[in-house]
Amino acid sequence: STPRSDLQQLPSPLDNVEVSRLRADFPILDRKVNGVPLVYLDSGATSQKPSCVYESEQHFYETVNSAVHRGAHSLAVDATELYEESRATVARFIGAGEDELVWTSNATEAINLLAYSFSNASQGRGGEPARRFALGAGDEIVVTELEHHANLIPWQELAFRTGATLRYIPVDSTGALRMDLASEIIGPRTRIVAFTHVSNVLGTITDIATLIALARTVDALSVLDGCQSVPHLPINVKALGVDFMAFSGHKMLGPTGIGGLYGRRELLDAMPPFLTGGSMITTVTMERAEFLPAPVRFEAGTQRISQVIALATAVSYLEEVGMDRIAGWEAALGARMDEGLRSIGGVRLLGPGSGIERIGTATFEIAGVHPHDVGQFLDSRGVAVRVGHHCAQPLHRALGVKASTRASTYLYNTTDDVDALLNAVDGVRNFFG
Ligand code: PLP
Repeated sequence: STPRSDLQQLPSPLDNVEVSRLRADFPILDRKVNGVPLVYLDSGATSQKPSCVYESEQHFYETVNSAVHRGAHSLAVDATELYEESRATVARFIGAGEDELVWTSNATEAINLLAYSFSNASQGRGGEPARRFALGAGDEIVVTELEHHANLIPWQELAFRTGATLRYIPVDSTGALRMDLASEIIGPRTRIVAFTHVSNVLGTITDIATLIALARTVDALSVLDGCQSVPHLPINVKALGVDFMAFSGHKMLGPTGIGGLYGRRELLDAMPPFLTGGSMITTVTMERAEFLPAPVRFEAGTQRISQVIALATAVSYLEEVGMDRIAGWEAALGARMDEGLRSIGGVRLLGPGSGIERIGTATFEIAGVHPHDVGQFLDSRGVAVRVGHHCAQPLHRALGVKASTRASTYLYNTTDDVDALLNAVDGVRNFFG
């Protein structure tokens, strides 16, 4: 019988051989630190970039450089076309319409932009949907105890500004979100539910389907922090049914200085602008201004053009490798890290045990050794990890630790990288006695 063609086309999972080929696209991975080969396990902080990403920025400056959405000359037209094509590429990657993606500097700015769209007086624009951006005493904003400070402090500030109350879904002592409490905490007063898709500390994947459904039941807006999920998992905002999502380009092979806010079209239309000025208006008199529709309404001033183009190049690279394959490979690396770390005396892995899905991130403590010493020792072996509170002090407090060591993988890590980490961790206790 003839094999089914769709089966024939299924790509094989990533393996060390293919990853070694991919690594050639990342020249920095060839460098040495402290006289030994670099083992980069800090992609949770920022990813390395394939050369095509920064070459696309250079190409832009060498051939097309011009401001966008202004001027009728050829360079301006070409730059605008490239810029908007890039928006369409990145929007498609997350399952959004191209008019539903607003460029920001990073996820932090995306969440702040959104939080500043709420005020305690109705903005009076866009009819009924505008009501959703007026907040006051008696209204509640719900977050989780897992959050990165970027998805916590803007909501704290919004609560201070408007008189709304900030509530949170706690974690248990292992860092598992108390989903059993979610339906009590998200109630008729809830107007916003903001939560991370993947914990930047533990790598655990939140049950976002339940949180989105609970938010919808009470007519609250759902806000997803996709910083640690968009780089590692296939994401489709429409399939998820989320109202807003923030993400950062530099964690997904893109350059620094570029991130995005996805918002459902009718919500973006109802949102007042955050930054105002050039490039976001139709008509201006000395008294008032009329604004362009979203997304450019939220992109005042000269934009991050080369970064947007380079982010689209990064996204094309990820798509070519395949997000399912990347997720599968990182899960395998994560399992190897977990198993290896658990077998080393004095090492305690943080986070819930089995039953909660994780991306390829492992966070741990070594008995009697301060994480900063762990970080320095690992660095002396070429192993780059993150130490500290990882911008998640409340979660660390709930876990009963001040700081921790985090190793985070990406598509360019091999099992050799994991083994180098395990060897170095094994050496920590001997060194510090
Ligand atoms: N949210 C999460 C879960 C993160 O991991 C990070 C970055 O570490 C952020 C938000 C903030 O991202 P950025 O610093 O790129 O704005």
